[in-house]
Amino acid sequence: MIGLMMQQPLLVSSLLTHAARHHAEQEIVSRRVEGDIHRYRFADMAARARRLAKTLAALGIRQGDRVATLAWNGYRHLELNFAVSGHGAVLHTINPRLHLDHIAYIVEHAADKAIFFDLTFLPIIEALRSRLSTPRLFVAMCDAERLPESDALLCYEDLIDLHDDRYAWPLLDENTASSLCYTSGTTGNPKGVLYSHRSTVLHSYAGALPDAFNGSARDTILPVVPMFHVNAWGLPFIACMVGAKLVLPGPALDGKSLHELIEAEQVTLSAGVPTIWQGLLAHVAGRSRAFSSMKRTVIGGAPCPTAMAAQFQKVHEVDVLHAWGMTELSPLGTVCSFKPRQLALPEDQRYAIQAKQGRAVFGIDMKIVDGQGNELPWDGEAVGDLMVRGPWVAAGYFGESSMPVHVDGWFPTGDMARIDRDGFMQITDRSKDVIKSGGEWISSIDIENIACLHPGVASATCIGVRHPKWDERPLLLITRSSGSTLDKDELLAFFEGKLARWWKPDDVIFLDGFPLGATGKVLKNKLREQYGAHYAG
Ligand code: ADP
Repeated sequence: MIGLMMQQPLLVSSLLTHAARHHAEQEIVSRRVEGDIHRYRFADMAARARRLAKTLAALGIRQGDRVATLAWNGYRHLELNFAVSGHGAVLHTINPRLHLDHIAYIVEHAADKAIFFDLTFLPIIEALRSRLSTPRLFVAMCDAERLPESDALLCYEDLIDLHDDRYAWPLLDENTASSLCYTSGTTGNPKGVLYSHRSTVLHSYAGALPDAFNGSARDTILPVVPMFHVNAWGLPFIACMVGAKLVLPGPALDGKSLHELIEAEQVTLSAGVPTIWQGLLAHVAGRSRAFSSMKRTVIGGAPCPTAMAAQFQKVHEVDVLHAWGMTELSPLGTVCSFKPRQLALPEDQRYAIQAKQGRAVFGIDMKIVDGQGNELPWDGEAVGDLMVRGPWVAAGYFGESSMPVHVDGWFPTGDMARIDRDGFMQITDRSKDVIKSGGEWISSIDIENIACLHPGVASATCIGVRHPKWDERPLLLITRSSGSTLDKDELLAFFEGKLARWWKPDDVIFLDGFPLGATGKVLKNKLREQYGAHYAG
């Protein structure tokens, strides 16, 4: 028997309509590329998104067409998010930090009809134009005054000025594609993940849950993570769903600018990768309780070192939510929030839990398997390949029909993990980063975590390096914290008693910085290339 409930499609435009109707006065604050602060309300944003949807139609953008952006987190980018998807086209957010070859590759691969860009990225647009096989529309996200002189560029504000806001969002099938994100290519050629309206709305419900990001109308949310990094982890959609104030940082992602914005707008919840928080924490170093309003911060995309969690929580009284996800998961997979019993544990045990990436949110099913695909126990020890499934997990890659993504209905994440009895998952490595010493695995992330506990260490990266006897041995690369004179012997002595003897790195190299990828993650493959022969002699 079929239930007798309405068939209301889950659409991205319904998030916007809800926000405009029920939270019309709620603010959206953006630091603009021009440097100043722009503010308006959800109702204004919705009206401009409708004018933009009419603009898209007038430009010949039809349902299913791809529309790309090269843009920071700002109000015009937000309008594009809703207008493009709401209109039935597909918003393709391009990561501007990718190499130009990769950008050209994905623009061609996605067959983007138009590219909207912040003026910061004009040099990329200029370099790109001659490399594309067919002409595209290039729209500068600015007003006429700032439009660079060029026949080839359209002006965002001029275009939407031509239209009024009388526009009804089409009632699309909820499985219609809404947006497209390419993985950043740390594992080969970028691959396109094509989200649907349904997956986006379900992901927003899950992300807003109390044990996930816990968003509400009383929150002020600052997505530091860019919209071009998996839709700012869904936070703009969540803000609309719950009616939270939204603060968008534009290009100013340094510690000082972020801190100013957090304080000025009284941000309560923020989210970003560890490298961003390192900058922010360095800026407020030496102070305590430097955040007067911030209650919690989501840290993900790369492991959150325990030392970072401790600084936020002990020094600044900001709760840390360690989260794991990936482009193929929209991106949310797990969030580390405590179960009631764990709240009473001694501090060091609570920090040990927070080093884990956490529990699956409802909608994500996960398991770990051995090399033959057999499921491994959740005993906190067995390490295997992490597999997931769920309604916001990729079922394939855009334009790559031959690429098998699934294994028996599960998506292989490429991460290695253990899961404890409480269901807390801990990433031990990406499978390609795992260190294999004498036939046994060593977790590079565990080693990095311990190194970061030393006050003289600012950041740590551990890689497996070829070794004549053991196949591979761990090599630790360090950046010192400012003023530190830490040396190799002191650091290696620090490992004593903290992990198995044979896990201890054989050597330490001190560097000024690490090569970072387009989403701010350390490029371990670059380091392996450079230091691969370190133990060869
Ligand atoms: P890319 O492949 O471009 O790095 P993603 O941004 O999708 O693309 O990265 C997803 C990967 O990032 C995960 O598979 C995992 O290896 C890593 N990752 C994400 N969050 C965490 C975390 N909290 N701890 C450790 N690794 C993480």
